[in-house]
Amino acid sequence: MHPTDFTLRGALEALNEGIITSEQLTRAHLDAIIALNPRINAYITVTEEAAMEAARASDRRRAEGVAGPLEGIPLAIKDLFCTAGTRTTAGSRILGNFVPPYESTVSANLLRDGAIFLGKANLDEFAMGSSNTTSAFGEVENPWKRGNDTETRLAPGGSSGGSAAAVAAHLALGATATDTGGSIRQPAAFCGIAGMKPTYGRCSRWGVVAFASSLDTPGPLARTVEDSAILLRSMAGHDPKDSTSANLPVPDFAAACARGVKGLRIGVPQEYRLPGMPDEIEALWQRGLDWLRAEGAETVEISLPHTKYALPCYYIVAPAEASSNLARYDGVRYGLRAEGDDLRDLYGRTRAAGFGAEVKRRIMIGTYVLSAGYYDAYYVKAQRIRALIKQDFDRAFRDVDAILTPATPSSAFALGDKQDDPVAMYLNDVFTVTANLAGIPGLAVPAGVDRLGLPLGLQVLGKSFDEETVFAVGAAVERSANFTGRPQVRAYA
Ligand code: GLN
Repeated sequence: MHPTDFTLRGALEALNEGIITSEQLTRAHLDAIIALNPRINAYITVTEEAAMEAARASDRRRAEGVAGPLEGIPLAIKDLFCTAGTRTTAGSRILGNFVPPYESTVSANLLRDGAIFLGKANLDEFAMGSSNTTSAFGEVENPWKRGNDTETRLAPGGSSGGSAAAVAAHLALGATATDTGGSIRQPAAFCGIAGMKPTYGRCSRWGVVAFASSLDTPGPLARTVEDSAILLRSMAGHDPKDSTSANLPVPDFAAACARGVKGLRIGVPQEYRLPGMPDEIEALWQRGLDWLRAEGAETVEISLPHTKYALPCYYIVAPAEASSNLARYDGVRYGLRAEGDDLRDLYGRTRAAGFGAEVKRRIMIGTYVLSAGYYDAYYVKAQRIRALIKQDFDRAFRDVDAILTPATPSSAFALGDKQDDPVAMYLNDVFTVTANLAGIPGLAVPAGVDRLGLPLGLQVLGKSFDEETVFAVGAAVERSANFTGRPQVRAYA
């Protein structure tokens, strides 16, 4: 077996049993990156020397009997997490040469537990997008192909497209990602892997470049549900440096994966049945419900009546917060600077040169909805709708333990598609944004393929801070789906 073919759990066992060293595991992943990254562009930065050095140090720790829970495991870090001494770009020209002097809490937690960082994963600029095509460092190619069509290059989803493509193509055992409206779950679904957006507040946002602070949620991507559970346990935890971080104990999420679903009530929201949705997605959803019933769960129709307002609400709240968060990139304190005639001119030229088109669009929308005269009509109205969406879930969770929905309304589309139609692009997140607006956890699980052979995902939603039930249901779906497909584009045969 090639060392990049281990699951994260399998690699931990192999390391424990002395079947492989972290040095070998890390070298194999770096070689795979060197072979494949020039094609798929999943990594913006590869930290080869630092990774090898860290792997050797990890092997020494293990030999001394002080192995952490992720000791020696090579990971990809979304280039939105600040990494001390390693360039952190947020996929933007404006931060193109930014080297943070500090480590984000989530990545620091992973290092504390023994993880090895292979490099920084590509993403949509400032995590705004669903296709990883807005990155200033080039688009990412999904390693999956449409059947025999080896020509068409597909989008990996976004914004965590680099993280998802790296994990799917076996260029990392797992990755960090962030989800503001679907950026963990949608790329997971497009790339045939598992992606967990935990409850808002479960993982610290400290040191993560801000997009929309009331929605941004760090979480893991991995090839199995259990692997994502192992990663989340290390990433999560209270952080006094983030005022919205929850001061709650971190459960053993991996143990929850084995719980089963006997006696659980699973909600089926009628509003997630969209006109024009491919039959295959509806069929997969029904199959998912059959699997859960076969394992002893009960399924119940529920209603989340404000679902249809979720996307418009998100596309007011998220740009509003983004326009405020991105005001700091002024060319004075850090990042790109374009010289100007005076201060105002310097600001204007810096931001014109530093931000891409999608980021500018969001800043303009956000500034508009927050401006005097429109604030009540748009922003305040959107906040009210957000409260109603949250109420829908609160009501539903009085009756059910978890909810099952499709993860995305389609499989991966071609790179370049939907590029001139932002609204069509925004529709990708129709099933995922609700969880961000409500703050609840959501897990995308690979559950099948469409007629072109492309992965399709199902989404499990749960109560706030009840990721354990979400993992239990997700693992049950994963067992029944028995998704064993592998992308055609590989570093090794
Ligand atoms: N696709 C959504 C957007 O463009 C969500 C992005 C995200 O979750 N970071 O805003």
